[in-house]
Amino acid sequence: MIPPSFEYHAPRSVGEAVALLGQYGSDAKLLAGGHSLLPMMKLRFAQPAHLIDINRIPELRGIHEEGDTVVIGAMTVENDLINSPILQAKVPLLAEAAKLIADPQVRNRGTIGGDIAHGDPGNDHPALSLACNASFVLEGPNGRRTVAADGFFLGTYMTLLEETEVMVEIRVPAFAQGTGWAYEKLKRKTGDWATAGCAVVMRKSGNTVSHVRIALTNVAPTALRAEAAEQAVLGKALTPDVLEAAAQAAMAICEPAEDLRGDAEYKTAMAGQMVKRALTKAFARCQ
Ligand SMILES: Cc1cc2nc3c(=O)[nH]c(=O)nc-3n(C[C@H](O)[C@H](O)[C@H](O)COP(=O)(O)OP(=O)(O)OC[C@H]3O[C@@H](n4cnc5c(N)ncnc54)[C@H](O)[C@@H]3O)c2cc1C
Repeated sequence: MIPPSFEYHAPRSVGEAVALLGQYGSDAKLLAGGHSLLPMMKLRFAQPAHLIDINRIPELRGIHEEGDTVVIGAMTVENDLINSPILQAKVPLLAEAAKLIADPQVRNRGTIGGDIAHGDPGNDHPALSLACNASFVLEGPNGRRTVAADGFFLGTYMTLLEETEVMVEIRVPAFAQGTGWAYEKLKRKTGDWATAGCAVVMRKSGNTVSHVRIALTNVAPTALRAEAAEQAVLGKALTPDVLEAAAQAAMAICEPAEDLRGDAEYKTAMAGQMVKRALTKAFARCQ
């Protein structure tokens, strides 16, 4: 319950935050919504000597459109994703799935950038960003770079983010007309992390799948894109056999950690079920 002592910094620009990260190195941590970092500090799993609070940097918040891309500031809180007319119209998966994250109080503080940067396989945004083909803009001492969500998640709590970088924004292609989507999340209770989850973004042509991205939550050390499962449904109608083939392909890449949510066999089987449900729902929503 009692975190260790630390020095507090509240920069007003991304440049200042990057400079502070450069100054204090691995002794420093960025503080976003604080709803993963502070719990870890209270249990003394993390003991940063410097907290760099990025809540007072206006350019990190808000959602806007740039052509066919929806741009989400890294410090945008979950409730603002849910209530965003832009997301509801252009990337409805994110507005809908954010309702399944934590609870109303946590969603008033927890940010999309923090959820992704934390690199927790239990978090929902990593798989959602893979399914949406998102990319992340990172600012460091040498300027900005943009990296794809696909390839960003390296291991549990490990991402492509360098120690001196701030995630500035999340860029998501607007869904093409007629796109179907779903996020199926099995959880023990509201506000819990997924036992297994599956995000799907899909388009159809006639009665067959013409485009699909499938990603899995909390069934491996990182969120996973299930490419073999995508291949199993591409160009096909969603018959029971095709759904089963996709589920089997997704289950084949699962490496879940065994914990109080279940053993590896159960979580893997649940991942397969979530894949079937998400594919079925996304297909029904395609126009
Ligand atoms: C009760 C409870 C239930 C929860 N349930 C869920 C759930 O079901 N699904 C889910 O996905 N999450 C869940 N969470 C996690 C919650 O959404 C966190 O808020 C989120 O994981 C981290 O976001 P944050 O903004 O709070 O980041 P923080 O806790 O402030 O930071 C987390 C980490 O990310 C780094 N970081 C933050 N922002 C940036 C940035 N812009 N650039 C670079 N690094 C950055 C920080 O330095 C830190 O290392 C839950 C949390 C609680 C307390």
